Amino acid sequence: MFQQIIKASERLSGFSHKTPILTSSTLNNFIGTEVFFKCENFQRIGAFKFRGAFNCISQLSKKEKTQGVIAFSSGNHAQAVALVGKLLGIKTTIVMPNNSPKVKLDATKGYGANIVLYDTETENREVITQKLQDKFGYSLIAPFDDKYVIAGQGTVAYEFLNKVPDLDTLLVPCGGGGLLSGSAIATKHLNPNCQVIGIEPELADDAKQSFKSGKIVTIPVSKTIADGTRTTSLGRLTFPLIQQYVDNITTTSEKAIIDAVKFHLLRMKIVVEPSGALGLAALLSKAVKAQGKIGVIISGGNIDPSTLIEVLKNNQQKTNKY
Ligand SMILES: *Cc1c(COP(=O)(O)O)cnc(C)c1O
Repeated sequence: MFQQIIKASERLSGFSHKTPILTSSTLNNFIGTEVFFKCENFQRIGAFKFRGAFNCISQLSKKEKTQGVIAFSSGNHAQAVALVGKLLGIKTTIVMPNNSPKVKLDATKGYGANIVLYDTETENREVITQKLQDKFGYSLIAPFDDKYVIAGQGTVAYEFLNKVPDLDTLLVPCGGGGLLSGSAIATKHLNPNCQVIGIEPELADDAKQSFKSGKIVTIPVSKTIADGTRTTSLGRLTFPLIQQYVDNITTTSEKAIIDAVKFHLLRMKIVVEPSGALGLAALLSKAVKAQGKIGVIISGGNIDPSTLIEVLKNNQQKTNKY
């Protein structure tokens, strides 16, 4: 798998951004140790998902590329697949809920994707996607449970550890576990002493439950503000990799996530979406001990304007609805 991450890094070269690594002396003084942030909020489409989508789509056969790709997502994966399709000249179809925020529909359309809307109450996105695949021969690009996607996401930690090799701990947001499993593989190959910890919202703690119980636990769709981590379970590929390479999974409260988004914005002057702020949330709330050199992956920066307003008002009741 590590070789696949190196290959992914070569494929991505010239296409993805080598995102910056930031520090905050205010934070370091406050928690009493050194923290480094790998800023995927500055990646193309504003999140790391560009990496996995690019790696997966670029290895398809000529025939598959000609027929086109399909994905179902209303979030960052949709925009990632759409942009990769545009860059590589591949037709993309994205199946999205008909109640998706307009900004997300417009962004995905803006990259030239063909959008198919469905009704979340009465229709099933898997069924719709399968029908389109059968009819047009589209290749499905999975958001996390795919070895090329996992390898692509692993390039985040690969780049990070190449710049800051002596991290003691790496904190990684976890939804379906593509970013976490890929990053853990890269980290354990480059620095086996670095502890890799997955962070998820308390309100969507399926990965923690799975990690502790040794089998994949599925939960109902969560209302956490961290919408990038609302996936209901880890994947069949990501779970065993997480068992093998990840040291622990811990959770943070909604309040801690909101505080972290505010800290990123007001202290560090960077826009981070709630899912992207999980690492800092874990540090500020002491869910993870501030000890040694700590690396944090900021996974994305695509925050809805109305969510950002609620975060700044710090009105937790209202923010819970997103
Ligand atoms: C998708 C996403 C996640 C979760 O990634 P997984 O690979 O599904 O674990 C976290 N943060 C952001 C910003 C995302 O877009």
